[in-house]
Amino acid sequence: MDFSWTDEQKLFRKTVRDFAQNKIKPRVREIDTNKKIPEEIIKDMGKLGLLAPTASPEYGGSGVDWTMAAIAAEELGRADISLAIPVLYLVEASWGFIFSRYGTEEAKKKYLPKICSGDAFCGIAVTEPEGGSDIVGAGKTKAEKKGNKWILNGEKIFISGIRESSRWSGIHLTLARTDPSKGHKGFSFFAVSLKDNPHVETSLFEDMGRMGISTGGFNMNNVEIPEDHLIGELNRGFYYAMEGFSAARTLIGATCVGASEAALELGVEHIKTRKAFGRSLASFEGIQFPLAEHHSNIDALKLQTYRAAWTIDQMYKEKKATHHDVALAAAICKLRAPVYAFNAMNEVADWLGAIGYTKEYPIEMGIRGVRSYSIGAEGTMNIMKIIISRELLGKEFLPYK
Ligand SMILES: Cc1cc2nc3c(=O)[nH]c(=O)nc-3n(C[C@H](O)[C@H](O)[C@H](O)COP(=O)(O)OP(=O)(O)OC[C@H]3O[C@@H](n4cnc5c(N)ncnc54)[C@H](O)[C@@H]3O)c2cc1C
Repeated sequence: MDFSWTDEQKLFRKTVRDFAQNKIKPRVREIDTNKKIPEEIIKDMGKLGLLAPTASPEYGGSGVDWTMAAIAAEELGRADISLAIPVLYLVEASWGFIFSRYGTEEAKKKYLPKICSGDAFCGIAVTEPEGGSDIVGAGKTKAEKKGNKWILNGEKIFISGIRESSRWSGIHLTLARTDPSKGHKGFSFFAVSLKDNPHVETSLFEDMGRMGISTGGFNMNNVEIPEDHLIGELNRGFYYAMEGFSAARTLIGATCVGASEAALELGVEHIKTRKAFGRSLASFEGIQFPLAEHHSNIDALKLQTYRAAWTIDQMYKEKKATHHDVALAAAICKLRAPVYAFNAMNEVADWLGAIGYTKEYPIEMGIRGVRSYSIGAEGTMNIMKIIISRELLGKEFLPYK
């Protein structure tokens, strides 16, 4: 057991922190107001190797492991408490990795270098209008083979990065049924490009938070997908999706650690200097005790997050952990992260008094942003509990087939 960071990890953290604190943090309000991450930030992230960082260097990625990826996510969360840039980062890190691991040579050569440089987006499209949690039961999107092409029909909804993918170009790894008779074993994953695609109609939602990255949907009407845009093996798409979700849930944990530590730091600075009844706020037990609680929760979350990242590394690099170990560690992390982060931010808003309710401080952006994680992005809280229970009890106790 060793809780220290290696020199390489320390240097990587410092590099990402310097960049994020200097180039991102001062612009978070602007990003939230303009609902757009400035192009130069995206390009600088590409130059630093922060776009799809886990993708193989052969295709433009940095090939970093998941502990390093979590370090970067934490630092991006610390700088962008609205969580827009952290979301862009974690979506591309998770799904860029799955694409890099399972995509065909042709498709990877076509898209990955552009994804890693910030010229294309890489997202995930699983959720459909009739259900997200129960995609296996409710999913209607299908893919049928015609000659050497796949034809996709269906609708995806609440998908991150629709505006980005339509504007810059890019792909969404899209889950579709290829054998309806086989339940979760009958889904496949396809790389679908939204930009200038006459068979795709996109739409956008006005979100509550994380305004810099869009959420929307797309309708597919006989979209033709080349054979080499099938990702991995036919009918293994559901498993690839679960693999990517575990990685994304771990990075969500890391972004929540960074964002809530930033919120607590801001709160501590305030309670030390703000006076009431002749004393600083920090000298009242009614303020100190919640600080102790929130600090301890975030500290626990940090341990759970890096344990999950380490478990993923143990699986891919050392072959010493299984997908079950990873799914459990990641679900625990995702179950705790948004709740602890939301509660810490909410507390800091109280400490700030009236100014905490204004846009003078970034706390309100954090509260709006982090709620996306607990409502459902990368899986709802109840679904995390179902995964944890499945791993503890065995899948014969799942409430559904
Ligand atoms: C900001 C944002 C971005 C997103 N980005 C993406 C994206 O990029 N790609 C993508 O594919 N999806 C994305 N999603 C969608 C997300 O994955 C879904 O919202 C999520 O899976 C839940 O699906 P749903 O919204 O259809 O809710 P439902 O599945 O209808 O669930 C509604 C409620 O019922 C509960 N529930 C469902 N089943 C059970 C059960 N068996 N037991 C107990 N409770 C249950 C859920 O926990 C939830 O509280 C995003 C969502 C948000 C909010």
